Amino acid sequence: MARKLKGIAAARGVAIAPIVRFHPTLEHIPTWKVAEAAIDAERSRFTNAVAAVAASLMALQQEIAGSIGKHDARIYDAQLAILQDPSFRRDVEAEVRAHQVNLEVALQRVIARYEGVFAAMENAAMRDRAADLRDIGRQLVGALMAQARQKYTSNGADYLFAAEEFLPSDAGILDRAHIRGIVTAHGGKYSHGAILARSLGIPAVVGVDQVMLESTTGTMAIVDGDAGLVLLDPSPDELRDYERRAREQRAIDRRIAEVRFQPSVTPDGTQVQLLANVEGVRDLEALEIDAIAGIGLFRTEFAFMERRQFPTEDEQMAMYRRAMDGARGKPVTFRTLDVGGDKPLGYFKMPEERNPVLGWRGIRLCLDWPDILYSQVRAILRASALGHARILLPMVSSRAEVARCRDVLDQLTADLRATGVPYDPKIELGVMVEVPVLVPVLPEVLPLADFVSVGTNDLVQYLLAVDRDNQRVAKMYDPFHPGVLRVLREIAATAKAAGKPASICGEIAGDHWFTPFLVGLGYRELSMAPVFLPRVKLMLRSFTIVECEDLAARAMAMPSTAAVRKLVQDEIQPRWASQLGAEETRR
Ligand code: PEP
Ligand code: MG
Repeated sequence: MARKLKGIAAARGVAIAPIVRFHPTLEHIPTWKVAEAAIDAERSRFTNAVAAVAASLMALQQEIAGSIGKHDARIYDAQLAILQDPSFRRDVEAEVRAHQVNLEVALQRVIARYEGVFAAMENAAMRDRAADLRDIGRQLVGALMAQARQKYTSNGADYLFAAEEFLPSDAGILDRAHIRGIVTAHGGKYSHGAILARSLGIPAVVGVDQVMLESTTGTMAIVDGDAGLVLLDPSPDELRDYERRAREQRAIDRRIAEVRFQPSVTPDGTQVQLLANVEGVRDLEALEIDAIAGIGLFRTEFAFMERRQFPTEDEQMAMYRRAMDGARGKPVTFRTLDVGGDKPLGYFKMPEERNPVLGWRGIRLCLDWPDILYSQVRAILRASALGHARILLPMVSSRAEVARCRDVLDQLTADLRATGVPYDPKIELGVMVEVPVLVPVLPEVLPLADFVSVGTNDLVQYLLAVDRDNQRVAKMYDPFHPGVLRVLREIAATAKAAGKPASICGEIAGDHWFTPFLVGLGYRELSMAPVFLPRVKLMLRSFTIVECEDLAARAMAMPSTAAVRKLVQDEIQPRWASQLGAEETRR
């Protein structure tokens, strides 16, 4: 019998392969035992990390000397001196050897000891040196982690990715041809890593607390992305059972996929546009564009995250132009850079924030750094001449922010006009509804916007006050909450009254159990990861508009999330099963 670990089902499907462990992020320092034979390897990791940190400190020092002054640049001398201090090195190496711990742990311990000494000193200036030490420790551990999380090549063998977290930037390190499943110790179903796993069609289970302790690289495992289970060292019977299930699932998926070129209408003729969410041009080019109405969400930040520095306007233009070509005249909704929160940019230093999700992210950051916004919007405008581009603003919380973005757009179009550069003068500007306070002020915001798109991933986390990345409260992150449905209803009704289209681009748009509710609440545009399109279309074709409206009205009036889920179970699941003529009812 396998050791079974329970987690959160994040991306459906079954994967069977050996685990490959990836080292975690700075917040989760890895711990492992270092045998005598591995001590030399730790020593050379230390040398490399010191060299990397020293090089970046010297570069920073030079930059500061140029922009602020030589005197201020001297503050880095203290850090460089610690780095090059032979007794620091000796202490760290002694810690590794004496306690058989890895370098990351040894570093933390030695630095904590030094800090204690400085903190006890009477001289305030010396006490302040403790901060320098902490900073050095952080940079060294960061450099060690960066070495550990480089692009991975599996040499032709299938594997399961295991780590503390799956970060959006990790998409770049995967060996796409051989990755079969993902399992992480942290994260929730609506974390960006989970969203990415779903878009890539890779089965994933997140929030499996024990996975890094219980497994090693090479441990054979089954990732059950439907039940949220990970089975370590499965028995031959368990392997056979899961292989059979995976085969059956593939057969059902093939049947569902047959609807993909049929019209997306309810049985009584209400059209609902189904669009795709993409993370980059590669995703877009891999799409069957004829089967969809367009791109409802192009998360541009992923292309920024894969690089080592900000892309120039021309580089962005080239990318957006490829997207326009790939979409063949269908709309492409470019969301402006949405970094911050759980999507950091390695080359753009962000302040450490206590609550990053409530912090400097999305449009807030771009309005504070208008250069980023200007070059991105200009690049989108230049590409817009080639097709149907739309601009979408993330994390908007006030009318004033939209007004400022409108000004930017007006300035840029005037400039392009004056210089004879072609662009689409009718380009639409949309607003994401993710921050709850935008809902009551939508009537004042809508005159400045051409469309709205509801980002339910963030909206739900803010409405419920539940962090979408925190597995401890993951159970409470439930979009079926009747309060959420009522807010969604209000958004749709306000947009309709203003004559502006409203779509949903959060993950619930791709959850087929939600489809009758969303249609019943008034949404006629749903944008989702392409893998979900056939399921959502099949569901759409199963309920009349009258049935959808009735289901939505009843769900909104329910007293609890559990009651809404029961409604799904009693009235939506049986219809789905009869459509499929199969037992595919699990959610
Ligand atoms: C959302 O919040 O629903 C959304 C679509 O944006 P993201 O998931 O990229 O934050
Ligand atoms: Mg969002």
